[in-house]
Amino acid sequence: MGADMTDSPSPPLKLFNSLTRSLEEFVPVHPGEARVYSCGPTVYNYPHIGNMRAYVFADTLGRTLSFKGYKLTHVINITDVGHLTDDADAGEDKLEKAAAEKAQSIWDIARHYTEAYWADVKALNIRQPAHWSIATDYVPQMIDFAKAIAEKHCYELESGLYFDTATVADYGRLARHGTDEGESRIDPVDGKRHPADFAIWRKTPAGETRQMEWDSPWGRGAPGWHLECSVMSEALLGFPFDIHTGGIDHREIHHPNEIAQNQAHSCSDASGARFWMHNNFLVERSGKMSKSSGEFLRVQLLIDKGYHPLAYRLMCLQAHYRSELEFSWDGLGAALTRLRRLVMAAAAVRDVEAAEISDRRLTDLLAKFDAAMSDDLNTAVALTVFEEAAAMKKIDAGQKRGTLAAMDAVLGLDLLTIDRAALRVRPKTAVIAEDEIEATLVRRKEARAAKDFATSDALRDELIAAGVEVMDGDPFGWDWRLEA
Ligand code: AMP
Ligand code: ZN
Repeated sequence: MGADMTDSPSPPLKLFNSLTRSLEEFVPVHPGEARVYSCGPTVYNYPHIGNMRAYVFADTLGRTLSFKGYKLTHVINITDVGHLTDDADAGEDKLEKAAAEKAQSIWDIARHYTEAYWADVKALNIRQPAHWSIATDYVPQMIDFAKAIAEKHCYELESGLYFDTATVADYGRLARHGTDEGESRIDPVDGKRHPADFAIWRKTPAGETRQMEWDSPWGRGAPGWHLECSVMSEALLGFPFDIHTGGIDHREIHHPNEIAQNQAHSCSDASGARFWMHNNFLVERSGKMSKSSGEFLRVQLLIDKGYHPLAYRLMCLQAHYRSELEFSWDGLGAALTRLRRLVMAAAAVRDVEAAEISDRRLTDLLAKFDAAMSDDLNTAVALTVFEEAAAMKKIDAGQKRGTLAAMDAVLGLDLLTIDRAALRVRPKTAVIAEDEIEATLVRRKEARAAKDFATSDALRDELIAAGVEVMDGDPFGWDWRLEA
């Protein structure tokens, strides 16, 4: 369903381009199409919920492009080789390290964490991209790409083939290296001509073997992480494509390096994509989120504590993607409460068949929703427009359903289909079964009806002892919840 069903013309889509640090109108490279590449996970560990914010953002962008009527081709890669423990080419290969620590095959590790990531993608209602590109499937193309740029742009060291960042125009312009705004944090590494030079191919050190290695003109070894994204984005989307996304950290090293390679490969100053877009970080009060510090915040942990994963998606949508978002359990609880309110507000038209939308009040609201999303994905405002539409009285139910469904297709919160019982806080560790709770509540209701308050109170205490909070007169109809 496109936004062009309203009477008024759809506003142009404006997106913040990190290249120019300004809002720009989205004009597709190929009319009617939108081609988007998102840097995917390095599958050496479970993704934390901060990582997943990057994909909720990319998915919201994709859903908005679909809503605006573009035929979307989205690619997300899976980095199963080549990403060192430091983005700027220092340290060990993240996957080789994890395999050594866990004494497992690197391929098994990659498969395990890829599947865990896909489970989170599903739980958060992130739509399947057209392609999941797996880095190890593209190694021959990476070697070809490297061969094409080696002579003019690279030099060899003992440890491999390096990209000479001085050979392309304006290296690091995306990161604004060397300006006050830039956050240059690239450490010098021995043997490089310039500190920012980076590995295109990493030779396996003499006497060692890696679990993942391939033959190349520069010796047996593995591709550099930055090379992977240049090769896969060009192979699947062609240069130039429309939008490249990633977390804000990628604006500093990974994406400037991709851009340098793309410039070298296309023998031009073109960056490879028209828009480079970056989501800001999810942070914990203690600072940046990490996979190794404190309680490991995974989607599965939220689920185990009893929170529906879409409460986390809503938490992301309540903030602008370019703002830092602080995670707290209270914040997640508040998002869950709002999710319930949204579901309840839409409940009256849940089972109604959608009808074509002609009522001016609804087309106006759809236009308002469109304007919010077209304003650099202002999801916070879009959510309030959904609430406005859901609260509308004396309006054709079918048209109302159609309007809410069109909005939810962009928000991705399943507001008209979600299983309401799943929105109860129900920790995995809870010992009491739902039918037991329901049966006790029925007995309590009977006792209250008979004005037998002693029994009613005793039953309530029994439930409290089992970790069930009874919420008398809860306006949303959830009359109990389990304590987390
Ligand atoms: P990685 O698996 O480390 O390559 O990261 C996957 C994606 O998550 C990348 O786009 C990162 O930029 C992004 N990312 C990493 N940490 C965070 C965070 N705390 N909040 C939001 N995005 C993040
Ligand atoms: Zn990438």
